[in-house]
Amino acid sequence: MSMADSAPVSPPVSPPVSPPAPAALAEAARLMTICNACRYCEGLCAVFPAMELRRDFAAGDLNYLANLCHGCGACLYDCQFAPPHEFAVDVPRSLSAVRAASYRSYAWPAALRPLFDRNGLAVAAIAAASLAAFLLGFVLAHDPAALFDSSGAFYALMPHAAMAGLFGAAGLYALLALIMGYRAFRRDTGAASPAASSGGSLWQAMRDAGRLRYLDGGGAGCHDTGAVPRDRRRLFHHLTFYGFLLCFAATVAGTAYHYLLGWPAPYGLLSLPKLFGIPGGIGLTIGTAGLLHLKLCRTPPLADPARFGMDTAFIAMLGLTGLTGLLLMGFRETPAMGLLLAVHLGFVFALFLTLPYGKFVHGLYRFGALMLYAAERKAGQLEH
Ligand code: SF4
Ligand code: SF4
Repeated sequence: MSMADSAPVSPPVSPPVSPPAPAALAEAARLMTICNACRYCEGLCAVFPAMELRRDFAAGDLNYLANLCHGCGACLYDCQFAPPHEFAVDVPRSLSAVRAASYRSYAWPAALRPLFDRNGLAVAAIAAASLAAFLLGFVLAHDPAALFDSSGAFYALMPHAAMAGLFGAAGLYALLALIMGYRAFRRDTGAASPAASSGGSLWQAMRDAGRLRYLDGGGAGCHDTGAVPRDRRRLFHHLTFYGFLLCFAATVAGTAYHYLLGWPAPYGLLSLPKLFGIPGGIGLTIGTAGLLHLKLCRTPPLADPARFGMDTAFIAMLGLTGLTGLLLMGFRETPAMGLLLAVHLGFVFALFLTLPYGKFVHGLYRFGALMLYAAERKAGQLEH
């Protein structure tokens, strides 16, 4: 059931605070105990059926439930105990706080966990430093005129081996940090159990993640802008996610062309790097613009100022990577090429470095939570 089926409610009022992890966990445990007695929302998403399996809520259970939540807001608008009721049940905000704290606690190495504290600022600073490094590198390796090179020859500005080495090293580091983070998540939540790692659970989680099954508030959509649910967030998320995958496929195809086939760039319009890269870049640009718009006009009861910087920094980084990639493709043989190449590489490098320390990790841990949920459901413990 969604809010569209019931009488309008006045927007719940919750303070935009970011409680420290123990307080966030204590509040989430309080709410889950109330919800477990109520169970009105059990048809909305995976969180409530998973919650009903538990009587007590340890930190690992709450981190699992928080990463299972897609923040659609349906349970806030459906809840008869939402603020200003004295029970002050605000499940989306509470699970959002727990989720953000879980990202920090799983991050590897531990010394870099503070990057989550003021994440928007940290990501912006890393992006600015990366852009400056590439601009400066081009100038120092060549001369200032290199920034206005119109030859269309990328590798004259930065040799292919240097590009592959630098981005390969950053990518491997990000992969290692993400694997270590996921390992911590699995240990904490129980997602490391053999059942949760089975082929059936993996396939079910891939289907649920690929369709964003639980971002629909039980079927009506996401409450981005208020009581009337819409499905725009899922649409923009799909454009972003599949755009990102296509861009990744374009990079893999380009690497294979170069190293396996001996075909250096540039590639024609009908080549795989272009066939993947152009729609990928367009999807990434439109999807992130849409998500950013929804984030900026999110209805106050669901807006989360404490997580705004982290969310918008990651969306902006993805969008700028896609947009500068498209611009580089379009203006390759103009005097803007050198500058655009430095800016695009700067954003891509910063994106690689910040992947394990920003909102990107939500995809990883949500997928792990979906695998555990699929395993519990398969074991016959759940019906949803
Ligand atoms: S969110 Fe509110 S209505 Fe839904 S299960 Fe919890 S207490 Fe009940
Ligand atoms: S996914 Fe939506 S309905 Fe489910 S707990 Fe999160 S905000 Fe509530």
